[in-house]
Amino acid sequence: MQMRKGMILMPSTVYFAGRRAKSHRESLVRKVDRLFDRVGAAKLIEKNSLVAVKLHFGERGGSTYIHPVLVRRVVDKIKSAGGKPFLCDTNTLYAGGRNNAPDHLETALQHGFAYATVGAPVLIADGLRGRDYHAVKIKGKHFSEVQIASAVVEADAMVVLSHVKGHMITGFGGAIKNLGMGCGNRSGKQKMHSALKPVIKGEHCRRCGACLRWCLAKAITLNEGSGAMINPELCTGCGECIISCTHGAVQVQWRSAVMEVVERMDEYALGALAGKEQKTVFFNFLLNIVPDCDCCAWSDAPVVPDIGILASTDAVAIDQASVDLINAQTGIAASALKKNLKPGEDKFDALHPESDYHTMLSYAEEIGLGSRSYQLVEIKPSRRQKK
Ligand code: SF4
Ligand code: SF4
Repeated sequence: MQMRKGMILMPSTVYFAGRRAKSHRESLVRKVDRLFDRVGAAKLIEKNSLVAVKLHFGERGGSTYIHPVLVRRVVDKIKSAGGKPFLCDTNTLYAGGRNNAPDHLETALQHGFAYATVGAPVLIADGLRGRDYHAVKIKGKHFSEVQIASAVVEADAMVVLSHVKGHMITGFGGAIKNLGMGCGNRSGKQKMHSALKPVIKGEHCRRCGACLRWCLAKAITLNEGSGAMINPELCTGCGECIISCTHGAVQVQWRSAVMEVVERMDEYALGALAGKEQKTVFFNFLLNIVPDCDCCAWSDAPVVPDIGILASTDAVAIDQASVDLINAQTGIAASALKKNLKPGEDKFDALHPESDYHTMLSYAEEIGLGSRSYQLVEIKPSRRQKK
């Protein structure tokens, strides 16, 4: 539910199904079913509409992304509602297994996201090299226009599936991050990540000249001795050189102020939701709550026990509820937390002291993405199911 600036915020409803199960009737798959029904997702899906199921396929080496069996259940429910689902994510800024569509699709396949298992086509929403996007107008402090992946903009409705975990910049990663960072194309990600400009590491430069051809600002020069160099006076921070360089020589400046990054990400989330405010539902999976993002090529041990699954039509409310449920747990000492943090102690601030999820949530509310105020409604098995 998107809020207009200045509106009196009513608590949003967040539905919650706990992790515990004592019979097949309380399996996670059935819980996905029940959450889908209670949040009213079917009402948002028109017959034959194209429904983007936005998720993170996980970086190669990681293993805590959302299980394809649960994704399959969401796909089946969308089909039952008359929609045509497709799974999607966007290419990454950094080198790895997901920074162009062929590699990204191969990674998705390796992680079990194939038509045979999930029952829906898988596509990379910002195209072969991350250049397929629509410019979406917004009224933000940092942006008046954001670059959102074409397939996200062109979809009729969206189901955003987010694995909740920690993150080195945003502190906490859930629905807002999946929407904002996850729906921006590659140069959009650069614009979110860095108020500073990219730099070229001379030792990695092969002097191929590809970046020069894509730099509309003519900010790059090629020197036989030192390789390509960027003139920061001319650079507009568009990020095209990052996409063009297949040798990993163009590096992103990750040191930009964290607060600014999370505010920029919130504005991208607003752009990703534009036109689909009443056509989007969010599921947060509080399972395998690890310290770092699924972009990492590893998965550390969980920092709190599994909690369950949440569903809402409000990205801010579902993230706030996720943070609160996690912080209400006892932290696991045999994890990156290193000690048993008490219920009420902030697990994300402890994991990533340089990060800032508080600003991510408050600025998201301020720009009208949703409400931090929520009521939690726990879903229990129905009487009919209990029999
Ligand atoms: S594209 Fe990369 S390798 Fe080629 S000149 Fe530019 S920085 Fe160097
Ligand atoms: S970020 Fe854009 S303007 Fe800056 S050097 Fe790269 S291509 Fe040129």
